[in-house]
Amino acid sequence: MEFRHWLHRNPELSGREYSTSASILDYISEYEPDNLVTDLGGKGIAAEFEGSQPGPRILLRCDMDALPINEKMDIPYRSAIHGVSHKCGHDGHMTILLGIAARLYQHRPTRGSVVLLFQPAEETGEGARRVIIDSKFREIEPDFVIALHNLPGFPLGSIILKDGAFSSASRGIKVELSGTSSHASEPQKGTSPALAVAQIIKAFTRLSQLSISKGSTPMVTVTHARTGSQTFGTSPGEGCVMAALRASTTEEMDIISGSIEKMAEVIAQTNKLECRISRTDEFPVTENSGKAVAAIRSAAGNLGLLIVKPDAPFPWSEDFGHFTKKYPGALFGIGTGTDAPALHSPEYDFPDELIASGVDIFIEIIDELLN
Ligand SMILES: [Zn+2]
Ligand SMILES: [Zn+2]
Repeated sequence: MEFRHWLHRNPELSGREYSTSASILDYISEYEPDNLVTDLGGKGIAAEFEGSQPGPRILLRCDMDALPINEKMDIPYRSAIHGVSHKCGHDGHMTILLGIAARLYQHRPTRGSVVLLFQPAEETGEGARRVIIDSKFREIEPDFVIALHNLPGFPLGSIILKDGAFSSASRGIKVELSGTSSHASEPQKGTSPALAVAQIIKAFTRLSQLSISKGSTPMVTVTHARTGSQTFGTSPGEGCVMAALRASTTEEMDIISGSIEKMAEVIAQTNKLECRISRTDEFPVTENSGKAVAAIRSAAGNLGLLIVKPDAPFPWSEDFGHFTKKYPGALFGIGTGTDAPALHSPEYDFPDELIASGVDIFIEIIDELLN
């Protein structure tokens, strides 16, 4: 708990988890793991605890980064870094994994091995991919990958679990338009992208409203738009629209992305503008495997925990999808209370009482998968 408060007080943004990484390394070294990998995909750390018999390697993953959000809460361990705070509960996830290290120090797994992975840069969607492509990751290539995320809106300590897609895929689309600038008194002498920017915003927003009116997750959300610069003297020559796309399968994502891009290209063409489209911030669907879900379900059952089964995949994305794309595994949720503030809101704080519950469920899952 004390360590969670220390992490909370010292948050670091994605890709800059320097002191977070150093303190985890200090802490985990005391538990004498059999194998310790550092600077994994950035400032990531993996600690492996081996059993005496051969068996599967189970990787438990937590995330290390905080968010560019100013903390508004008056708590004794409030963030010491202005404009940065742990508002996604990753401080809690890290503390849970350290709790597991303490247990594995006393009782090694019966067989196989357990890898505790502290992964950087989850919020930007870059960390998981970087860890996987890091050559050091070959040393700890897992047979199963498991992660949890704390989830407000569900009873405290409940386990949120689902077969198949657990969270959605998302992709950022950037549409850059270029025409020719001209004097603001002679817009007819140039080609301004202003109208095209407005038409693209309208077209994308209409699609979004359509899906909301049908009760489903918006497929596209305009997140940024701009044309020219802040001046009265020039009719602009360039513009830009950025949008976030969401889908519950990879195929659906490709279809939505294709039609959105086509729409932007047609609008650009009709307005005699050049159009360049790029894709960023890719998060694949987090796909849960049957065997991993069954192990989590029995583990929760053994502990007498309430299991909540969502009907549809969550609309948000998790870069853990990069792991489940490659290895069988699952992401599950642990409820932080029906009245808890939303993740990423300035009032959010990971509930300390979930640290012990998180450790217990993971230990139980390890037993299920190894026996
Ligand atoms: Zn987050
Ligand atoms: Zn998160």
